[in-house]
Amino acid sequence: MDRMRAPRPELEHLVPYDAKDLKVDIALAANEHPANLPGEIIDKLASRLREFRFNRYPDPMASTLRGLIAEANGLEPSNVLVGNGGDELIFDLLLAWGGPGRKMIDAPPTFTMYGIDAQVSGTELVRIPRTADFSVDADAVLERLGEGDIDVVMLAHPNNPTGNITPETVLIDILNATDAIVLVDEAYFEFSRHTMRPHMERHPNLVILRTFSKAFSLAGLRVGYLLAHEDVVRELTKVRQPYSIDAFAQWVAATVFRERVVFQQAIRDIMRGRDTLMHGLSAFDGVTVYPSEANFILFRIDHASALWRDLLHNYSILIRDFTRTPGLEDCLRVTVGTDEENERFLAAMGEILSSRKASQILGNGAHARHGTVGELGY
Ligand SMILES: *Cc1c(COP(=O)(O)O)cnc(C)c1O
Repeated sequence: MDRMRAPRPELEHLVPYDAKDLKVDIALAANEHPANLPGEIIDKLASRLREFRFNRYPDPMASTLRGLIAEANGLEPSNVLVGNGGDELIFDLLLAWGGPGRKMIDAPPTFTMYGIDAQVSGTELVRIPRTADFSVDADAVLERLGEGDIDVVMLAHPNNPTGNITPETVLIDILNATDAIVLVDEAYFEFSRHTMRPHMERHPNLVILRTFSKAFSLAGLRVGYLLAHEDVVRELTKVRQPYSIDAFAQWVAATVFRERVVFQQAIRDIMRGRDTLMHGLSAFDGVTVYPSEANFILFRIDHASALWRDLLHNYSILIRDFTRTPGLEDCLRVTVGTDEENERFLAAMGEILSSRKASQILGNGAHARHGTVGELGY
């Protein structure tokens, strides 16, 4: 007899998220900050570690951190919700506004968690693909919103993995066209400096998402937050896990947020590194580089999967392979690293591409150096 009852049928076609946590020398696959927390912040935390109350449950609403975030954004604490990474807040939004019989719009190619969370929460996903240059198809979104049955819209701004922002006028048109919750995901705000914050007062359905994972070197701690109308925050507190942000994460994130000016130099360095990568990649024959307002760059190249494997196996460089994502065939995404990491990545790219060129002249044999020819069928 079959001794285990089947789970919800929605799970049948879901594949567990694979973060590709490979051990490599140069990790440029997850849009993380290339550096650990600044030493001065670690020292400050270390000097007070003995006083930290590990034995107590955390403050459920992360009041200290919440107050700091509210103040910095000219809002009340009731307009802020802190979560276990931005990812948890995306899921909470769908627990509260999605679910069976409800519908969400996203604009692929985009952040994969939107679609996964829609499926897990039983929300019907209405996908409105981006145009060839990865712009949101505003006409199609507005037309679909006009049917009046959409509950949630999720738009990353700038978009991950394509790197482009959506013009503010388009976002405002969308907000004007619907009473659906419109999540503008500003996970890369500290790099792009584009925010919809000034439009919150006029649009109670606007929800802004931010994170400590990208510009603030805290991907390992899991802290994100959203800015929203207090009624939205109140509904979300009904569905959230009360102790989702642990006390240690609250303490570290509050310390980091108080000291956030310290991160400005590193953010400028990352932007400079992005320009270096952009120029370096553009100089290679056959590489199409897409403009980016974030700390990563999407590019297109023939035989992209082979290149991805070559970087990994022969140079211990991990970037992100999007070649199986509809609309991103032959696309790879590289996160801006340290100056040295960026240089090593560009140097590896140069070697791989010149050996490709040589093999095109000499015949396929030249590829044997990297041992990937058979697998590739060049
Ligand atoms: C990284 C990212 C997030 C959130 O990341 P967390 O680590 O869960 O805070 C949200 N949206 C987009 C588009 C991202 O790239």
